[in-house]
Amino acid sequence: MNKILVVGGGAAGMMAAVTAARNGKKVLLIEKNEKLGKKLFITGKGRCNITNAADIEDLFSAVVSNPKFLYSSFYSMTNDQVIDFFEELGVKTKVERGGRVFPESDHSSDVIRALEQEMKRLGVEIRLRAEAEKILAEDGRVTGVRLSSGKELHADAVIIATGGISYPSTGSTGDGYRFARECGHKVADLSPALVPMEVKEWYARELMGLSLRNVEIRITDGKKKLYEEFGEMLFTHYGVTGPVILSASSIVGKKLREHPLTLHIDLKPALTEEQLDKRMLREFEANHNRQFKNAVDSLFPSKLKPVIVELSGIQEDKKVNEVTKEERLHFVRLIKDFSMTLTGMRGYNEAIITKGGVSVKEIDPGTMESKLVNGLYFAGEVLDLDAVTGGYNLQIAWSTGYLAGLNA
Ligand SMILES: Cc1cc2nc3c(=O)[nH]c(=O)nc-3n(C[C@H](O)[C@H](O)[C@H](O)COP(=O)(O)OP(=O)(O)OC[C@H]3O[C@@H](n4cnc5c(N)ncnc54)[C@H](O)[C@@H]3O)c2cc1C
Repeated sequence: MNKILVVGGGAAGMMAAVTAARNGKKVLLIEKNEKLGKKLFITGKGRCNITNAADIEDLFSAVVSNPKFLYSSFYSMTNDQVIDFFEELGVKTKVERGGRVFPESDHSSDVIRALEQEMKRLGVEIRLRAEAEKILAEDGRVTGVRLSSGKELHADAVIIATGGISYPSTGSTGDGYRFARECGHKVADLSPALVPMEVKEWYARELMGLSLRNVEIRITDGKKKLYEEFGEMLFTHYGVTGPVILSASSIVGKKLREHPLTLHIDLKPALTEEQLDKRMLREFEANHNRQFKNAVDSLFPSKLKPVIVELSGIQEDKKVNEVTKEERLHFVRLIKDFSMTLTGMRGYNEAIITKGGVSVKEIDPGTMESKLVNGLYFAGEVLDLDAVTGGYNLQIAWSTGYLAGLNA
């Protein structure tokens, strides 16, 4: 019987192990941590956004790097099949805003437990605290893995599912890139992606902790628009984060590494400037004797109000009936275009994923096998694949893990 060795007990590795074992293979999975799925555990703020319920064709447009490479894998294990896979293992799922799929329990641990139990049922051998140090190959064919303890494990096929280098405390420390290079593979430039951004202006720090739902953001480089999206964002002590910012970072990251960009936030995207001005007029008429700062209470969350009032340039204690039309229109424009300077991005410690990785040009997209070394397979984030937020990155891990497990 063929023996398959899976390196890495994350999403892709566990899916590969289950699939290979279901196909009658003898499977050994090694994981350097003391437990499986450490990164999986923290996904989706501990709730694990397993996949996205979007139309399968839309999955491709959510992939930022090399979507075409994923054609076979996404169609071999679709998002619907991922949902069925977990439902069959007893993990009931639910769909939330934006098609995000979560376990009904809101516990990522249920996803990990389901995979662990299935591997156990199928007789997959799991070795924890076992760190692969080198891939062994002879005459262009993989023969096994040497552990950091010096012990050699032999196998007919090896699946590398060691993840990226972001959140390294979860065990993803980039070992797979080294293995790939040592086997002659090219590794596309690495950079942190889906990562928070830093802001220059003082008011970003004043707004720390403020979450803005239903805003529209636009990121520009001079006059050129680089990104525009509707969604949720959050202010932190250094700048901005949250789903819409993280997704933007994948698109604007390269430029932002070169020079600062401008973030424009439309705080009232449902209203045109004209409609907002009418609303403002109504607000002003109802409060005409009150001070400006008190008349706009209903328009903003309490943390945002003092900042926006200060930036308006209107004296905060000015009576509303004394605010000029010009001042009011300037205020309306500020609400529609609350802007700040993006100065840089945070590092790997805070990046949801790693952009770049093992070049897909040297991997067979129909099997995940290396075109350079027979019997060597790659799956998951170690590959040069990445997507925006919304469950798509785990879909990449499940689909490529499945295909590697099926073909190994
Ligand atoms: C905070 C956070 C939240 C996220 N939330 C989501 C989400 O909700 N939805 C989503 O789609 N994506 C999310 N992601 C991204 C997603 O977690 C990853 O894309 C996915 O985990 C990649 O799976 P993987 O199996 O390729 O790698 P990993 O999950 O990183 O697993 C790799 C495993 O390999 C092991 N390993 C590494 N080197 C060795 C070695 N030498 N020997 C033995 N074992 C080794 C590691 O210890 C690790 O367990 C999130 C990421 C982060 C950091």
